[in-house]
Amino acid sequence: MNENQFETEAIRTQIERSQFLEHSNPLYLTSSYVFEDAEDMRASFADEKKRNVYSRYSNPNTTEFIEKVCKMEGAESGYAFASGMSAVFSTFAALLDSGDHIVSLQNIFGSTQVLFNSVLPKWNISTDYFNIHELEKVESLINANTKVIYAESPTNPAVDILDIEFLGDIARKHDILLIIDNCFATPYLQQPIKFGADLVIHSATKLMDGQGRVLGGVTVGRSDLVEKITFFARNSGPALSPFNAWVLSKSLETLPVRVDKHCENAMEVAKFLETHKNVAFVKYPFLKSHPQQKLAIKQMRLGGNIVAFEIKGGIEAGRKFLDAIKLCTLSANLGDTRTIVTHPSSTTHAKLSQDDRLKTGITDGLIRVSVGLEHKEDIINDLRQALG
Ligand SMILES: *Cc1c(COP(=O)(O)O)cnc(C)c1O
Repeated sequence: MNENQFETEAIRTQIERSQFLEHSNPLYLTSSYVFEDAEDMRASFADEKKRNVYSRYSNPNTTEFIEKVCKMEGAESGYAFASGMSAVFSTFAALLDSGDHIVSLQNIFGSTQVLFNSVLPKWNISTDYFNIHELEKVESLINANTKVIYAESPTNPAVDILDIEFLGDIARKHDILLIIDNCFATPYLQQPIKFGADLVIHSATKLMDGQGRVLGGVTVGRSDLVEKITFFARNSGPALSPFNAWVLSKSLETLPVRVDKHCENAMEVAKFLETHKNVAFVKYPFLKSHPQQKLAIKQMRLGGNIVAFEIKGGIEAGRKFLDAIKLCTLSANLGDTRTIVTHPSSTTHAKLSQDDRLKTGITDGLIRVSVGLEHKEDIINDLRQALG
């Protein structure tokens, strides 16, 4: 990041104004761009000129969005995608070859796990997993074909914290890449490149938009790697739409204030839950009771907006809790202005055995709260009445 503070970059990073000298960036809904003459067209196709040619390659709105995320993450360059999953897939498809191997954290986002287990093996790319509480085993999983260590922090839904610097050191030592999905923290709270990540991936669908409107994704980091990802993406077509890029660029202007408030509300919710008689335990990174609070404080500016807690009474109590919720919503999203509650063991993770769930920190009564921006007393009142 250059001399400006994060908030200023979030607002003032802007592509050139058009002839109309607009203050707020306009939306460029165009699939292609015109050439002045034969020589302009020749030079543009020969890649000698850096300019917009076709919106699958680049567009002023996606360029602005990418530049903002790069500044926020302290990254050299990036590419924007239609969704978080297209960012994850394209990154691996661009960088790995048949026979390559991934070492990944076990409790990563569900679709990423399906991608690793059921899609990438079609191209003979395999994955071995490590448990977040056994980082000392990571090195023993690395073999001659390993190209990437992949992880997320905080984790979903158990809100464990991963030591990114520790993994960065291992990646350096073995000359392999560290790729971090930073979606839960956002670049405002945590910048993995500082701790040794080579690439950072985001689902912009979550806190970056923060208002539950659009899908988007982005990969930023080392420019030699982003060049390969861009080559793959330009020719396979997962580009972010200009409209979504325009929405996301606007959203990033308010990311710091929104995330500050999300974290303030989440801390209040976590403290309330700790006092409730029907709650067995609470997991929130900045709570004293979190086993990795110190690490969380080292890596993150604030604790994030996800609070996990264990309701007493197991699966049945979890289902009853969801049915009793009035103000908050049951939804598959997170990082929205609206507070969202989910019960992983009876919904998203119901198909796994109890043993497999426990391996990723999902106990029977675990409730995940994506704390929103409603008044904290209203959120707490709803949780209190639903807890009984
Ligand atoms: C939602 C999510 C994704 C996938 O993003 P989409 O925009 O839904 O494709 C990836 N990683 C994490 C951690 C997520 O929460």
